Amino acid sequence: MGGRMLRAGLELANTETCEASEPLWRVSSGSAAVLGLCTLAMDVAPTTAYLMLGDRCQRACAFCAQARDSQASADALSRVVWPPFAAGKVAEAVARAFREERIARACFQVTVHPGYIERALAAVAMLRSLSPMPICVSIAARSIEDVSALLKAGAERVTLALDAATPMLYHAVKGADWERVWKLLACAADVFPGRIGTHLIAGLGESEREMAERMQTIYDLGVTIGLFALTPVRGSAWENRQPPELISYRRVQAAHWLIVQGVARAEQMAYGLDGRIVDLGIAEDTLRILLGDGTAFRTAGCPGCNRPYYNERPGGPLYNHPCTLTSDKARAELDALLATLCGDNSHHPETG
Ligand code: SF4
Repeated sequence: MGGRMLRAGLELANTETCEASEPLWRVSSGSAAVLGLCTLAMDVAPTTAYLMLGDRCQRACAFCAQARDSQASADALSRVVWPPFAAGKVAEAVARAFREERIARACFQVTVHPGYIERALAAVAMLRSLSPMPICVSIAARSIEDVSALLKAGAERVTLALDAATPMLYHAVKGADWERVWKLLACAADVFPGRIGTHLIAGLGESEREMAERMQTIYDLGVTIGLFALTPVRGSAWENRQPPELISYRRVQAAHWLIVQGVARAEQMAYGLDGRIVDLGIAEDTLRILLGDGTAFRTAGCPGCNRPYYNERPGGPLYNHPCTLTSDKARAELDALLATLCGDNSHHPETG
């Protein structure tokens, strides 16, 4: 995995598709290149094979390119293009890539469509029959029985995406019932400890305090958090929204890292009247040690998930660093973070 951050082209150079009658899995363009299914100029390769089952989703999440009312390309999810390939060919390529240590896991992103649970079960079982690799499934499970079936089929973990940090935002952005998904997440975490994840998106309208408090509650449940920044995608309902300020995202990443390391809790942190994190609850000297290598600013989620260019344009700024930071870069990120905690949020190395 190269550490140098250059521009990555997103055009597929050689996409093979297949007969319409064959089951299809969509593959993120970067993953397809790692799997040898196409050629693509990349500076940072994905360390997980990202696969998508289904096209337009029956749900209407305002930020999502695959939402039922979205005008975005059917090939798009966030900033990434997902061309379709024959399932068997993909499964074999994924298993081979894992054997050859080119990827660490496979991740199925499943849209809501008729028969989507059964389709996910079949896909997991097919891949599991070829490889012992860790497989995760990000899916709108309907019940604990769905979660159980996916784990039994061979998934190592199931991700139940909250996306929004608060019940009100969840309802506003996803038009769905928070209580139902929250109860399912808590129940699944209890029944299947260490095997449940969720996604949170910063920039949907929550405050940093609401995000920190939600991350703490989720961590206390034993659930892994995949942290994203809102990425306005052309054609989605929220195409004209702004992504979160980068420095705000850095404060959220730092809070997340300290929480999951068990060295600070959200209730120890201090917040401004607008909910901004003004103190992470740890002395600056200690923060320099804990955050000094830049790991806090890397992509967070399942082990081995780096999602290059999912949230960001190749030219930056990088919300989630997909690989190890150079010591200079890590120092610059940390200095910018500490300066903003001291009340100076005018400078960030990537925003000037
Ligand atoms: S954290 Fe990464 S690997 Fe895990 S479900 Fe989310 S996108 Fe997939």
